[in-house]
Amino acid sequence: MTVNYVFTCQRNSGLMDLLALAVPFFLLALLLELIVDRVRSTGYYRMNDAINSLSAGTLSTTFGYFTRFAQVFIWGYVLQNFALLRMDYAWFDYSPQGLALWAVALIGWDFCYYWAHRYGHEVSILWAAHAVHHQSEDYNLSTALRQTSSSFLFNWIFFLPLFLIGFPIEVLATVNALDLIYQFWVHTQHVGKLGWVDRVFVTPSNHRVHHAQNERYIDRNYGGIFILWDRMFGSFQEELDADPVVFGVRKPLANWNPFWANIQVYAYLWFDAVRTRRWRDKIGIWFHRTGWRPADVEALYPKRSTELAAFRKFDPDISTAMRRYVLGQFLVTILGVLAIAKFYAEQGASTVLVPCLLLWATLYTLGLFTEARSYAVRFELIRLLMIVPLSVAAMLATSLIIESADGAWLIAGIYSLSSVAVLEIATANKHRQAKMTDNN
Ligand SMILES: [Zn+2]
Ligand SMILES: [Zn+2]
Repeated sequence: MTVNYVFTCQRNSGLMDLLALAVPFFLLALLLELIVDRVRSTGYYRMNDAINSLSAGTLSTTFGYFTRFAQVFIWGYVLQNFALLRMDYAWFDYSPQGLALWAVALIGWDFCYYWAHRYGHEVSILWAAHAVHHQSEDYNLSTALRQTSSSFLFNWIFFLPLFLIGFPIEVLATVNALDLIYQFWVHTQHVGKLGWVDRVFVTPSNHRVHHAQNERYIDRNYGGIFILWDRMFGSFQEELDADPVVFGVRKPLANWNPFWANIQVYAYLWFDAVRTRRWRDKIGIWFHRTGWRPADVEALYPKRSTELAAFRKFDPDISTAMRRYVLGQFLVTILGVLAIAKFYAEQGASTVLVPCLLLWATLYTLGLFTEARSYAVRFELIRLLMIVPLSVAAMLATSLIIESADGAWLIAGIYSLSSVAVLEIATANKHRQAKMTDNN
């Protein structure tokens, strides 16, 4: 019974509906900000950084199709078996009492979000998941969509109190979505200070501080909707003209691979855990304050301290033809993501496994191109040649439930062949190809 209940909630939850509805607006706003950026020549967008952020966001969403059920199951189980109160979903209507209940749920969610976010920065294993959101060295609306794929491991724990109190899961899923949707607009440099609004709400100015790697701004401004939590719990810092924000993390990603973006910090922790001699440190390293390292590892493999003044954005150069090819492929990828989201909403996760694998391969290849890797073209050709066989496999696996699957292989074939042709043209110029040097 619990499983059925949870499954129903997962498929019909406000989280999915609202976020799915918001995606076209996100993309439209991003396009508008991009146009403003070009018109004003502000240089807030670089194609490689934006594509990497959107790739991480895409990976997070699609990976979530196969992992999200775990946290929804636990939340539903706790709600059904351990809730203090039995709140009826019908109480949350448009009456003054109903709206007051919605407000309490939203404020409660934002309070838990503050602590989830704060520990997400201050504890190593939680930072390993959250760091993805901070790796962008630019700051624009694409940064908002740059999300981790591994928050499903621990993030849900911080919201358990609300399920223990007994808020309906539909209500909590909705306020979760509202909290996330709110945070989209604060990722911009086009909005300055907003007076009293900056003192109550999370705004572009105080969230810019949160994304900074300046010493003064580290571990500040964790709020989701309300900055009041930071003021109450001593983690607030105002954006200062005297200390312009430098975006990014102090240990740079220096890479456009969205998969590595998700495992980088886990990998560093793992290497240190293997190298340290004491068992206490092998375990403890994961739960210490972010940045802590065992003394023996620090002595043998000291970390280079990063000088902010010497900071340079990761920005390998690629030819104009390659930039256009990557951009074209990325636009096709967005269409693919929207199609996958539609199939997932209608048919569930098993239908979209093969399309997701193809999508993830595309994200990986786009990373290779933007990193100017010498083997990017070879990898891309393999990917393009695999599309038709895999599409046919996906069609055979899903033809019983997807009516339009008959034409899928044909579309895949046309896409694949035309991509090969465009890639040939893009790489034809030897002089441009020479620019594609392997960084390693
Ligand atoms: Zn953060
Ligand atoms: Zn952010």
